[in-house]
Amino acid sequence: MSRLNSVIRRLQAQRDCLNAAADMIKDYDGIVLEVGLGNGRTFDHLREIMPDREIFVFDRQIAAHPKCIPDDDHLFLGDIFETLPMAVERFKGKVALVHSDVGTGDEALNARIATFIGQTLPPALMKGAIVASDQKIDVPGTIAEPLPEGVPQDRYFFRRYQ
Ligand code: SAM
Repeated sequence: MSRLNSVIRRLQAQRDCLNAAADMIKDYDGIVLEVGLGNGRTFDHLREIMPDREIFVFDRQIAAHPKCIPDDDHLFLGDIFETLPMAVERFKGKVALVHSDVGTGDEALNARIATFIGQTLPPALMKGAIVASDQKIDVPGTIAEPLPEGVPQDRYFFRRYQ
C-alpha cells in the first residue's frame, strides 16, 4: 500500500473511532478530555461532532492551527504528568469521554504515558464513560468495547468505565 493510502486509512479509522465514541456517550451528560492537541485536527473534529459538549484539551505546547486552539479556560498547558492529576481532581466523576492521542515515536515513553493515564484517570470518569486511545491503556474499572466496523484491531482502543 502506498504511504498516501496508508495515511488516509489511518486518519479515516481515527475519524470513525471519534464518531463512534461520540455516539457511545450520547446519553451521558459529561465533559470531554482531549489529551494531545497536536495540530488540533482531532480537537476540531470533536467540537464539530459534539458542539454542545465542554472539551478540555491537554498538551505540553501549542503547535496547532490558530483556529484549532481552545480558549485558555479549556486548555491544560504543560506536561500531562503534572496537568492530568490536577484535571482529575477538578472533574471528579464528570468526564464522559477521554480521547488520548499522545503517541510519540518512543515506545518506552508511550508505555510510561499509557500506564500513567490509566492509573490517574478513573476518579474523573462517570459510570459509562469511554476512553478512546491510540495506545493500549489499561484503565482500572473499565472493560474493552469493540471498535467500529472496518477499523483494524489495535489501531485504536475503546474502554468503557463500569
Ligand atoms: N490529536 C492531535 C491531532 O489530531 O492533531 C495529534 C496529537 S500528537 C500525535 C501528540 C501530542 O501529544 C503532541 O502535540 C505532544 O506535544 C503531546 N504530548 C506528548 N507527550 C506529552 C506529555 N507528556 N505531556 C503533554 N503533552 C504531550
